[in-house]
Amino acid sequence: MHPVVPRPGILDIIPYKTGDSAVEGVSEVIKLASNENPLGPSPRAIEAYHGAAQGLERYPEGDSLALRQALADKHDIDPEHLVCAGGSEQFFNLVMQAYTGPGDEVLFTEHAFISYRLAAMAAGATPVTAPESDFTTNIDALLDKTSKRTRVLCLANPNNPTGTYISYHEVELLRERLPAHILLVLDAAYAEYVEEADYHPGSELVRASDNNVMMTRTFSKIYALPGLRVGWAHCPQPIAEVLNRVRCAFNVTTPAQVAAIAALGDDAHVAAGRAHNKKWRNWLTDELTGLGLTVTPSVGNFLLVHFPGGPEQAAAVDAETRKNGVILRPVAGYGLPQCLRITIGLEHENRKLVDILRNFLR
Ligand SMILES: *Cc1c(COP(=O)(O)O)cnc(C)c1O
Repeated sequence: MHPVVPRPGILDIIPYKTGDSAVEGVSEVIKLASNENPLGPSPRAIEAYHGAAQGLERYPEGDSLALRQALADKHDIDPEHLVCAGGSEQFFNLVMQAYTGPGDEVLFTEHAFISYRLAAMAAGATPVTAPESDFTTNIDALLDKTSKRTRVLCLANPNNPTGTYISYHEVELLRERLPAHILLVLDAAYAEYVEEADYHPGSELVRASDNNVMMTRTFSKIYALPGLRVGWAHCPQPIAEVLNRVRCAFNVTTPAQVAAIAALGDDAHVAAGRAHNKKWRNWLTDELTGLGLTVTPSVGNFLLVHFPGGPEQAAAVDAETRKNGVILRPVAGYGLPQCLRITIGLEHENRKLVDILRNFLR
């Protein structure tokens, strides 16, 4: 046996598969695979990023002070309760590292965002899943799956890849009925896209609860800066103090900090992204439904599409769209082999996709 071995469970982790960006033999690819904002970032963010080229010889500000202040002002949160990281994904690892270990359970729904499972396993904890109802979080099913060993419950609201959400009232009920020792992590990566009146990303609950709720957010989705890796978390003071102990000292780069601040200041750009998404999400939902496919109602910037022909048809459609230079996202890894996930693109991209599907499915 090789003498250098990782801790038990590490080799059981199936590495995350990112959305493809290229197709062999196709030069102009349309990528609808990674829930990226097709309008791109605010021009102000790009300008700030370029400006940061002056000063790369210096370490970043280690506490992301100016960015936390900008977030505090925008969201009316005490900056002491904000932590920034290199993508919101990092928080899942930090939380699992700090609050879980071998013998502990981490709970989430059956088609939840895959990072929770990876982070739990990396910490040696045991992932536990609860069934969904109609591809939507079912809080009773989650509560049924809690045990004395449950330490963390991760709830993506809205969830990826399903695109569905639960109301703020239901999130409150979940917290109320959940044992107090379980940390509820609300992952609101798509919050800026959601316009439903009964939705709330969760800051109120972080404030109202007994130091056992935190909310994560990201600049990767509507702010269109996934290449820079910036996320933030609103935490009760004791949790912020824990995360600040386990995170890396310089966990957000200078270009990322300044670009994120500039992006936060461009409300018009965010509004344009939200409006574009809503218009084309509706259009694409109607078109795909018209082709005989089932689309799970989405509040995010992507659609979960179900193929009546099952996994074989989903795989055939994936191959056909790829051949035509359009990359969609297979979600078999989420237990949904009969589905593909489609990110809302630019007008010509959405139209091209529907043309390819119409030709192939008729
Ligand atoms: C995309 C996504 C994230 C964001 O990840 P980053 O690390 O911030 O880029 C978090 N949660 C969900 C559910 C997502 O889909």
